[in-house]
Amino acid sequence: MPERVLVRGGTVLTMERGAAPLRADVLVEDGLIVAVAPDLAAADADVVEADRCLVLPGMVDTHRHVWQTQLRGVTHDWSLKDYIRSVRFTAAACYRPEDMYVGNYLGMLEAIDAGITTVLDFSHCINTPEHADAALNGTRDAGIRSVFALGLNDVPVPDIHFSTLAQRIEHARALRHGELKSDSALVTMGISLSDVLVAGIGRVTEEVAVSRDLGLPITLHANAVMFPTPVSEVGFLDEAGLLGPDLVWVHMNQTTDDELRRVLDTGGAISTTPETEMQMGMGHPVHGRFMALGGRCTFGCDVISNNSGDLFPQVRLALQTERMLRNDRELDRRHGPDDIGPSTLSHLEGATVNGAEALGLGSRIGTLTPGKEADLIVVRGDAPNMIPVNDPVSALVLHAHAGNVDTVMVAGRILKRDGRLLADAARRLALMDASHGFLRDAIEARGGLIPQPPAPLPW
Ligand SMILES: [Zn+2]
Repeated sequence: MPERVLVRGGTVLTMERGAAPLRADVLVEDGLIVAVAPDLAAADADVVEADRCLVLPGMVDTHRHVWQTQLRGVTHDWSLKDYIRSVRFTAAACYRPEDMYVGNYLGMLEAIDAGITTVLDFSHCINTPEHADAALNGTRDAGIRSVFALGLNDVPVPDIHFSTLAQRIEHARALRHGELKSDSALVTMGISLSDVLVAGIGRVTEEVAVSRDLGLPITLHANAVMFPTPVSEVGFLDEAGLLGPDLVWVHMNQTTDDELRRVLDTGGAISTTPETEMQMGMGHPVHGRFMALGGRCTFGCDVISNNSGDLFPQVRLALQTERMLRNDRELDRRHGPDDIGPSTLSHLEGATVNGAEALGLGSRIGTLTPGKEADLIVVRGDAPNMIPVNDPVSALVLHAHAGNVDTVMVAGRILKRDGRLLADAARRLALMDASHGFLRDAIEARGGLIPQPPAPLPW
């Protein structure tokens, strides 16, 4: 007997391009969507009532460092330089494998709670192989879909395990040929490159080569740092002949239109993380310029050490910032804008179907299409901040928050229901208390988050 779930009577946004919202049921069988239509009969199904609710694909976060959950909010008033010194250089060196487990387990639960069903996890705190194993276990225990992008970067730990890139590559190969060999699993493998400005293009070229040899998607931070004269990671990679459709470029604020065109022409995707970019002085979010050239936006929460893991506000911030920038061009010529753009729909696509496609998962998830895997969310339309739903897209993009997410399903498995995560709440708190207590003391013993004198940076 197949395992069936019927999501009944909601307003369904399939997010197939050009499709209008419709009142329909969604039938899921053994983890796959089998039908989206009104009045489906499924006598033996587990029924999720979705009356007065919006049903859509689970959201896709294309850039997040999930391990940082225990550091929530520490960088709230800080610059990018402060963040790098404190979180990347100091806190990361204190993380034990068990802290990676807690960061990933609780961070992924936070994502699920907010209606995110897939995360590109830019995991750049891989101090030992056990750190990677623990992060993976945390992700798997949470039940979310993820591209685990193994960081090949070095972390300034006192006891170095990986002293050469060759050792990191050997570890990556072992993971790829062992635990992460399947490209059809819930958790698949990717590679996070070292920061080009720190590691140099020579090392990064080697990292790209091994990623491609292993057939893995690649992600990197790029063009987010201001120098007196422009320095471009896109330019470095282009000169080295490394651009390609397997790259997810993150931030990209300082990228020229010519470089954006090169990224677009070579099939690359871009992840915009508006909150960190605007706070930390990276420049204006780039997604609007990328869209103007024919590209598609995707979004990420980036660092929970700064902002929340709820993608709704990121999408809203990105949309209204881009509108402000466009409006400014009209205002500069003392003219009130006649049209407002981009559309709310373009940004909801950014959080769903575009994200899935950017991660190479477009044939499996991203739309509610029969045959795809059942990653979907049910968002309450009867909450005080949602009623009445005059327009389902604007309700989601401009009004919804994580608390409105009633049900979350990943590959047919329900992980949040009736507004509550199904994971054990007491265990969550106990895990956090133990790991947070250890990290707080360990960071203090290293002189605090920003030890004095501050570590030097190349810009
Ligand atoms: Zn990042």
